[in-house]
Amino acid sequence: MNDKQFYEILPDGRYRFRVDHHTINDYNTCDRYFSLRHITDPADGMVWGSKTLNIKIALGSWWSSVMESFYNEMTFGTLPTDHHIYKFVTDAWSEHKMEDYASADDKTREVFDKFGGLDGGRLMALEYYEAFAKQHYSSWQIIGAELGFGWKDELPLGEDDKVVVYYGGKPDLVILDRAQNMIMPLDFKTKDSVPGNATLMYKPHPQTAGYIYAVNKMLDMMYGHNLTDAATRPLSPTKCIIMICARFRPTDKPRSGVRSPRFLPVYPQYSADEIEEWRQSVMEKCRRLRDSIERGVWTPRESACHLYYNGCVFRRVCSQPANIRQALLKSDFVKVEPWSPYNTEED
Ligand code: SF4
Repeated sequence: MNDKQFYEILPDGRYRFRVDHHTINDYNTCDRYFSLRHITDPADGMVWGSKTLNIKIALGSWWSSVMESFYNEMTFGTLPTDHHIYKFVTDAWSEHKMEDYASADDKTREVFDKFGGLDGGRLMALEYYEAFAKQHYSSWQIIGAELGFGWKDELPLGEDDKVVVYYGGKPDLVILDRAQNMIMPLDFKTKDSVPGNATLMYKPHPQTAGYIYAVNKMLDMMYGHNLTDAATRPLSPTKCIIMICARFRPTDKPRSGVRSPRFLPVYPQYSADEIEEWRQSVMEKCRRLRDSIERGVWTPRESACHLYYNGCVFRRVCSQPANIRQALLKSDFVKVEPWSPYNTEED
């Protein structure tokens, strides 16, 4: 099974899956969406992607890169300075070709201007720095930024007579909170503004449960049942951190009279039973996924068509009769490499 494959058929007829949060979430969202994004064309090994630049996704990727550099600096025992911040922001801005969005369509340009371009990026990073740098430097040990797990199938999720499932992923950060002696995964989420229901949005949530499952398993692998190490073993995580980051500066004069924060950490917490329930639900989804692949049936889920910022990217395909959908895909979309969390180059 190469890095681009997410499944193979074993000699005993079972399906061996490698899944991560994105794979499972896309299948959860809509079977047809999953087939367009993950089932490769046998002719070229590619899947369908959008031609349109998505500035909101790009800003999220840019911010993840800035944060990776920021916390990487701390792994070397250094508290980053303003000078570092400017460099991290500027380097990531070039890496993600953010200036391209300044000359895109009107809607994209509007978001670019509202964000404030590179200067807006610097301001966002400096505000984050003011809010958290010293606190995190003194209370956290950074275990790793963009630390991939499961790359070598070291995280078996389970198996039965239908499927053998391995899990993988890449949290933005894994930290040791010194006061709690607990290792926790952390993920950054960029939103236009911090939502009022932010504390409720990440549980239930497939990504948070999956990260907690994975970090627990990694701790077991590191410490096993060695009683000598047991005394120093950090506590198994029961929660993770979702750091919500607003793209746009909160207004100084909100109608409610309460200025919302630009950044808000939330801490979804799971019991061992809840994590086990999550594990079983992923197994069940993989059994259903096997069924979809075997029968080649990818049912549209209309309830998902209008989700997200602008609705599903494939709406104009699915809103047309079946006989012209292929032609529409070829004219309005591009072939892209399939998503893979299993990039062995990142060992
Ligand atoms: S438009 Fe709707 S049915 Fe079509 S792929 Fe998207 S979510 Fe699925």
